[in-house]
Amino acid sequence: MPPFSALFGTAELSATMEMAARARALREQGHQVISLSLGEPDFAPAPHILDAADTAARHGATKYTAVNGILPLRTAIAEKFQRDHGLTTSPNDIVVGNGARQVIFNALMAILDPGCEIVIPSPYWNAYPLIATAAGAASRFVPCHAQDDFLPDPEALAAQITARTRCVVLNFPNNPTGAVCPADHLEKLGEVLRAHPHLWILSDDIYEQLIHDGSPHVTLAQICPDLAPRTLTIGGVSKSYAMTGFRVGYAAGPKDFISAITRVQGLATGGVCAIAQAAATAALTGPQEQVTLMRETYAERAQLVAASLKAIPGVRSATPKGAFYAFPDVSEWIGKTTAKGVHLATDTDITLALLQEHHVAIVAGSAFGAAGHVRLSTAAATPDLTQALARIGNFARGLA
Ligand code: PMP
Repeated sequence: MPPFSALFGTAELSATMEMAARARALREQGHQVISLSLGEPDFAPAPHILDAADTAARHGATKYTAVNGILPLRTAIAEKFQRDHGLTTSPNDIVVGNGARQVIFNALMAILDPGCEIVIPSPYWNAYPLIATAAGAASRFVPCHAQDDFLPDPEALAAQITARTRCVVLNFPNNPTGAVCPADHLEKLGEVLRAHPHLWILSDDIYEQLIHDGSPHVTLAQICPDLAPRTLTIGGVSKSYAMTGFRVGYAAGPKDFISAITRVQGLATGGVCAIAQAAATAALTGPQEQVTLMRETYAERAQLVAASLKAIPGVRSATPKGAFYAFPDVSEWIGKTTAKGVHLATDTDITLALLQEHHVAIVAGSAFGAAGHVRLSTAAATPDLTQALARIGNFARGLA
């Protein structure tokens, strides 16, 4: 076989996608699988969003768009940043990508060189280090702990920054922990970042609307405006508007960074699907009632899941403050044997055995930098969640 690229030929599929694929395969064999693996809302987008897609498709949104996105969408995003965070940004300083994932990929491709480092608080969304590796960069992690609400300690952050660091990633509300960073803590992290003018900051705010107590999200460029010239603030419609399949994400930031991201995107895909951009414009500018409803539902489920997990032997779990995941510590299960005789040496063994024996798909914490934990998505219908938790309880009670 001819060779593959040294950087990309070995790129890993994320553990989340792998579990989702395994769940799909079991389902195709006729099993009643409940998948809590992907971070995918179980809601449908609001009707006005779907109407906008339909109207756009019938009225000419069938052509290439500008690589950085259609002006009405970039204007809506700029207005949103102003309204929600007081960030003044021009539509020209905004780029729209195929999901926040592509925006992050493009941003990291635009700033990382082989030999660079990227600093990521851990647990983390696994795409950051996987993309960094594909760019030839090394990841350094800032360990965050349940007893600190999974917030990075400023000194621990400072300890991971070196002369090679090109970028620090912040993600609140956090996938997988649900951590929400209050303004005073963000200010302390900002103090550390201020002392290192050689690095970029990526603030991945994709779950900003999903804070369980309804309190407003705060972001770094808002709390530390002096850092805005080197901060990329990232968002998207996938999570807040249940539009994962539309593939629309965006970022606001300094002009040169946005131009670099746009150049990478021009090489890879060009502009996002014109119909999807029209739908995203409708999502951001239209009625927001459904967002509130979904947020309240996720908050109720977080309570339900936390209470159920607490009753399961060997599980330690906090109630997450935002996003739509639970991230319990199940390290007490490691070393035990399942009812069907499978020895559990790692958290990955736990997720594989749970899928095989009880048909529930969750993701091993090691994929997020936290071995001994597992991640459950709570963006599944409540009856499915209840059923999945009953199965997880049976799994736990069968361990010896
Ligand atoms: N950031 C985080 C933290 C995520 O969890 C996800 C989705 N899992 C994304 C970005 C990307 O979302 P999308 O590409 O659908 O916008």
